[in-house]
Amino acid sequence: EGLKYHGLVEDCCCDYETVDRINLVVLHPLLEQIVKHPFFRYFKVKLWCDCPFWPDDGMCRLRDCSVCECPENEFPETFRKPYGNILSSDNLVCQEGKPQATVDRTIDAKSFKGWIEVDNPWTNDDETDQAEMTYVNLQLNPERYTGYTGPSARRIWDAIYLENCQKYPSGECQEKRILYKLISGLHSSISIHIGAEYLLDEKINMWGQNQSLMYDRVLKHPDRVRNLYFAFLFVLRSVTKAADYLEEADYDTGNPLEDLNTQLMMKKLLYDHKLQAACPKPFDEAKLWKGQSEPELMKQIQSQFKNISAIMDCVGCEKCRLWGKLQILGLGTALKILFSVNGDELPAQRLQLQRNEVIALINLLHRLSESVKMVHEMGPSIDRIFGKIIGGP
Ligand code: FAD
Repeated sequence: EGLKYHGLVEDCCCDYETVDRINLVVLHPLLEQIVKHPFFRYFKVKLWCDCPFWPDDGMCRLRDCSVCECPENEFPETFRKPYGNILSSDNLVCQEGKPQATVDRTIDAKSFKGWIEVDNPWTNDDETDQAEMTYVNLQLNPERYTGYTGPSARRIWDAIYLENCQKYPSGECQEKRILYKLISGLHSSISIHIGAEYLLDEKINMWGQNQSLMYDRVLKHPDRVRNLYFAFLFVLRSVTKAADYLEEADYDTGNPLEDLNTQLMMKKLLYDHKLQAACPKPFDEAKLWKGQSEPELMKQIQSQFKNISAIMDCVGCEKCRLWGKLQILGLGTALKILFSVNGDELPAQRLQLQRNEVIALINLLHRLSESVKMVHEMGPSIDRIFGKIIGGP
């Protein structure tokens, strides 16, 4: 027995058992390595509390909430100005609060050579002012418990669900429900990561798993677990659909050996034969947008998603905002890949992505993959602890 979900993941083309197996054997181990590579571990982001909806409520100052930015000499060579300092392994530690942490926020635009700035119709691109941008080493700022809670956090989720993607009745068109399921799946994943790395004892700074949190917020709600698997397969499909583009992308960070390795690992991920045999098409986007009102519906859903992306500036905790922005950009990138270009085949030249979009997409896939793995592995022990069998569909 244990936490068992059977049959096909809703609206998807693979069953739960296959997803668990392929995730454990192929996807999770590969993604674990890929996100550590220099190309994928630096995310460019505007971290300011710049909320158009509510004034700052003080949550930004929580200790575990703050992000430690990269000291400039930690950036990969091509991210830096020509006169940057020499990279030293001593600097690969958090410099939070130290003078070394001061970042030159006017990073040379040339660092994005080979990558063009293109608009994403699904996201709120307010981040054109380079002076406000900074680079964050994601490896030093893991998504985990931060203490961000209460009305401030609640109103963000409420705004996302109520104003932008109400829980659509099942009769509503499939396209609208997809947005809800993606957000709910992401919410499940964030909750799983909070429970996976929780501050158990503040006095002695002891971190560990909080299984009852994971159970209460996610595992005891079968629909939330289902939405997590759905979001995972949706993003996975977007990555494999963009395989030609991602295979040829420029992963240059000035470290030829590591960059070549990044390219090889990406190829493994994009064309893994076990994945292709077990789950050739994790999601079938061709079944959508068939109705008469397709163009208006697409615009409406795009604008809803843009609102969600704008709300991320209101997340009152820096580290949550970092991961919220990254993952919403990742979802927006998946939507762009699947729905802005029609057709099954996606020749590399028909798609254009920004460097940051690729970084967000792959890191999001990694986060979801990790959550799916945890949910799968916790099934049996959760039953023992809570004495319950959790029903699937
Ligand atoms: P919440 O998780 O706030 O949920 C609010 C309500 O939404 C629930 O009562 C329920 O009705 C509904 N709901 C919950 N889960 C789902 C689901 N999967 N699908 C559909 N509906 C659902 N905190 C951290 O400690 N670390 C972080 O990295 C972090 N990142 C965040 C990122 C964002 C973008 C946001 C908005 C918040 C983040 N938080 C983070 C805060 C965290 O998500 C919770 O809001 C907080 O821990 C309080 O949890 P809660 O029990 O009140 O329920």
